[in-house]
Amino acid sequence: VSQPNVHELDASKLSYNFTQNPRELPALGVTQDNGNSICTDHMITVKWSAKNGWEAPELKPFGPFTLMPTASVLHYATECFEGLKVYRGHDGKLRLFRPDRNCERMLMSSVRISLPSFPPKELEKLIISLMSVDGPKWLPRDRAGSFLYLRPTMIGTQSQLGVQAPSEALLYIICSYMAPMDSPAGGMKLHTSPDDMIRAWAGGFGYAKVGANYGPSLLATKEARARGYHQILWLYGGTGECTEAGASNFFVVWKTREGKTQIVTAPLDDRVILAGVTRSSVLALARERLADEVEIVERKYTIDDVIEASAEGRLIESFASGTAYFICPISHIHHRGRDIHIPAGKGGEGAPITLRLKKWLVDIKYGGVDHPWGVVV
Ligand code: PMP
Repeated sequence: VSQPNVHELDASKLSYNFTQNPRELPALGVTQDNGNSICTDHMITVKWSAKNGWEAPELKPFGPFTLMPTASVLHYATECFEGLKVYRGHDGKLRLFRPDRNCERMLMSSVRISLPSFPPKELEKLIISLMSVDGPKWLPRDRAGSFLYLRPTMIGTQSQLGVQAPSEALLYIICSYMAPMDSPAGGMKLHTSPDDMIRAWAGGFGYAKVGANYGPSLLATKEARARGYHQILWLYGGTGECTEAGASNFFVVWKTREGKTQIVTAPLDDRVILAGVTRSSVLALARERLADEVEIVERKYTIDDVIEASAEGRLIESFASGTAYFICPISHIHHRGRDIHIPAGKGGEGAPITLRLKKWLVDIKYGGVDHPWGVVV
């Protein structure tokens, strides 16, 4: 920012206003209260305006906002967000997993919808500050192996109707409980997307974590759930390219006709797919540790390729990857009246390659190993 009075986001200006009414810690496993997310005692908010730039960040009691009914976000979906977890390690430490990646992605998303930019490192410092305050109480040492979910969010708050880039915005960070969603019994069951719906398209904004990508996906997901499936496998284009599974990235492990084992996932180049932090971590670990046995391939592939591999007995594993679902074995895909069954290990808990990747990531997140991706709070 070049003008002298337009301030950059600066985490060192954070002020602290602690709650007078701390909430009682919910019992382990309780994640909601009458259908509401249970959030920790505090949140961080930072206001921005085109005129003055970023104000000083504030840590304050968690609670509702007021917004004018004319606020930009409520009409034009000027909203982006991130999702990351803080983990209580078996060594007693609190860790974030690659928070720099989430903060960089948040910047990319905000720029895509004309919300203000910021140095990602400053957002990361604010996340760590909130966790330094709320982490020790909300994720006590006797809850090793559990986590909290952080949701940095930005919204356009300018209260003027009219389709334009907002001149006012609010950045906030909240932290909530979230039920572990990994590994439904028997493995995850996917239903391919309806023929008349696509999640994202080349030239669109599927690569950005903006709210506008999610609302329109809920209808297909609701219908699939009513039919007994967990998530939609979003297909793209006339050939039915496999892109994402719900709000997670999608992987298959198959043998080529030549007998080579490949881990395959869709590439990022068309910007149709969200670049998952878990996705990139899976690819990096696989390249580092499995390259002798397995080829790691980012390429376009279609649902017909998956059906063919299955029919020829070459489809050996599949999993979804993401912060919420973590590494989730997929046991079943339904496509246009046809069922694809995929080996997913005992009880759907994961076939061998899936389980190895998952274990490596668990070790990093919960402090089983020292690794630069695990950032201690
Ligand atoms: N795809 C979509 C559409 C998502 O919303 C998410 C969750 N952020 C992912 C993939 C997985 O990304 P990550 O591994 O960073 O959680």
